[in-house]
Amino acid sequence: MTDGKIVVSAPTATGKTATPAPMIDPFGRAVSYLRVSVTDRCDFRCVYCMAEDMTFLPKREVLSLEELDRLCTAFIEKGVRKLRLTGGEPLVRKNIMSLIRSLGRHLDSGALEELTITTNGSQLARYANELYDAGVRRINVSIDTLDVQKFKAVTRWGDLGKVMDGIRAATDAGLQIKVNMVALKGVNEDEIVPMLEWCHEHGHDLTLIETMPLGEIDGDRTDQYLPLSTVRERLSERFTLTDIPYKTGGPARYVTIEETGGRLGFITPMTHNFCESCNRVRVTCTGQLYMCLGQDDMADLRAPLRASEGNELLNGAIDEAIGRKPKGHDFVIDRKRNQPAVARHMSVTGG
Ligand code: SAM
Ligand code: SF4
Repeated sequence: MTDGKIVVSAPTATGKTATPAPMIDPFGRAVSYLRVSVTDRCDFRCVYCMAEDMTFLPKREVLSLEELDRLCTAFIEKGVRKLRLTGGEPLVRKNIMSLIRSLGRHLDSGALEELTITTNGSQLARYANELYDAGVRRINVSIDTLDVQKFKAVTRWGDLGKVMDGIRAATDAGLQIKVNMVALKGVNEDEIVPMLEWCHEHGHDLTLIETMPLGEIDGDRTDQYLPLSTVRERLSERFTLTDIPYKTGGPARYVTIEETGGRLGFITPMTHNFCESCNRVRVTCTGQLYMCLGQDDMADLRAPLRASEGNELLNGAIDEAIGRKPKGHDFVIDRKRNQPAVARHMSVTGG
């Protein structure tokens, strides 16, 4: 297999495709959302995500773009309606746009409702228009601070100016932007209000995320962990927060902020377990299917994918894995057990 450009097939002559029945896990949850980490590599080294001297996977272990396309298509044929490409940094993968354009055919056919990406924004200025042309309408951009120096300190290698250029390009291209901000104690907790105001002024939703104990990092996670229950209490002293049932397919719970007129989401894996409504599974760039971000159990899809050109083995492996999707995670961050809950970094499984 090469990692070259994918030839985009034309939409089916019959127009819209009938929606297949969703995959159902042992707890009756329909699995309709797939997140795919297209690379474990990244041009940033965020302190809560990676160690500075990360070792990345050898390229031969990583699925080619054609294999990723085949894998995503198999899931879509099994009822996945939302697909998010993530990483690592998805936009640093060579020729990534050929995969995104190719997957856009499933939007044209109606099989896929939404194709999105989560990005650090460093390459957005270059790709914003192409993303829109491929059918992407919403993107998540991760920005933990609007302070240039602090941005450098948190991302180690990032340049806030470039990310801001990317955000402008994405807005001009017509992409809806949601900003993801990881709440870090003593680092950006004073910036949640300015970030909220900036996002809402520019028409972006903001989602706050609790740090999760995934993978070894250089620092101590207990120093970084800021419960969002505390953040919400503090925000409530200043703003009027109203819970709303708005959903984007992910785990965030949303409120509206009366004073700014914008939406704020909370992703609270630590303080409020959201597993009961989990509709997602994740595939790594080596084809490992993780049924839960917070558990070690996985199914290898690369071997069945590479074993034959037909999808029989692959479909069987997917069905078998969905049949053992666990009830939930059990993340803990405490001083006594100062170890990651799972050894994989978020950049491997995909955030
Ligand atoms: N590179 C892209 C980005 O930063 O948006 C996509 C991959 S990144 C792993 C996806 C999201 O996971 C980002 O919003 C990032 O802030 C978040 N993240 C990474 N490590 C995390 C951790 N240990 N706990 C909580 N969120 C984390
Ligand atoms: Fe890279 Fe995203 Fe991890 Fe930051 S959070 S190091 S941008 S993968």
